[in-house]
Amino acid sequence: MPHTMNTTQKIQAPGFFRFTLGKKLITVLSDGYFASNDLLTNISKDQVEALLVGDIRSSENYRVSINVFLVEEGDKKYLIDAGLGSFFDANAGHLHRNLKLAGNDPSEITAVLATHLHLDHIGGIFNSDGKRLFPNADLWVTRQEVDFWTNTEIQKNAPEGADSYFVMAQKALQTYEGRVRFIEENSEIAPGIKAIPLFGHTPGHVGYSIESEGQKLLIWGDLINAFVQIQRPDVGFLSDVNTQDATKKRKQIFGMAAESKMLISGMHLPFPGVGFIQKSGEGYRFVPLLWHGNL
Ligand SMILES: [Zn+2]
Repeated sequence: MPHTMNTTQKIQAPGFFRFTLGKKLITVLSDGYFASNDLLTNISKDQVEALLVGDIRSSENYRVSINVFLVEEGDKKYLIDAGLGSFFDANAGHLHRNLKLAGNDPSEITAVLATHLHLDHIGGIFNSDGKRLFPNADLWVTRQEVDFWTNTEIQKNAPEGADSYFVMAQKALQTYEGRVRFIEENSEIAPGIKAIPLFGHTPGHVGYSIESEGQKLLIWGDLINAFVQIQRPDVGFLSDVNTQDATKKRKQIFGMAAESKMLISGMHLPFPGVGFIQKSGEGYRFVPLLWHGNL
C-alpha cells in the first residue's frame, strides 16, 4: 500500500526527553522556540554569522529552544519553569501538550520552581483570563526577583520595551496570590532540590541543583540565552538586567561545570539540551547526552 502523509503526521512528535537521576525521574519538555535575531551584545553581526556558519546554521532561522523540566520522585512532581505559554509567539506554548503526552495532568503538579520571572519562563503557568493553569501548585521564586519586578519606580525608569516584562511578571504573581513561596538561601525546596543563586541575567535569577543517590544535575536557567554564548561566554544578551554580572556568573559556572564534568542543562540550550561542557579554545563546547531507550 502506498504510504501517504495524513494531517496527524504533520504535527511534530511529542517533545519530551526522559532520564533518571538516582531515584528521581527527569523529563525535559519542549515549549517550542523563539527567534533570536539581533539580541546579542558585545559581538558583531559578522562574528555571530561566522560562528553560526561554523555550526552549519544561518542567522535567518536562528532558533532559541524553550525548555521546561519536570522532576519527579514518589508522588511529587516539580516543574522547573513553564515556558512562554500562549502569549505572543505561535512557535511556543507547547508545554501543556507535551506535559500531557508525557503522561501528566496539570493538576498533579506540586509546585512550579521559577528560575526568574521573564515571560518565557512563567508564561505557561497562567492564561490571559488570569486563570492558574497549575491549580494545585505553589510558585517558588526568590524575594529579590519579586521585589525587582513589582517595584513601580524601577518599572517607570526601565529601558524602552522592558515594560511588558514587568506587567506580565506582576500578572503571573497576582494569579498565584497566596501560593507564592520564597526561596530561602542555602535551604532545600524539596529533598535533593536546591536553588543556586545566579544573579545577573535578572536580580533574583537562580539555577536549580538536582541530586539523588550521589548523581547531580545543574539546571542553569538563563546562564546562556543563545548557543553562541557557549563558544563566546563574553557575549551578552539584550534581556540581561545586568550584563556584567551575568557574564561573570556564566564564566564562573562554565569553569566549574567543565572542571567537574557535571551534567548540566538549561532553558535555552537546543532541545533537549542535557549534557556537558568542555573547554574548547577561548570558549567551550557542548557535548550532548545521547538518547537512550531504557531508563
Ligand atoms: Zn529566557
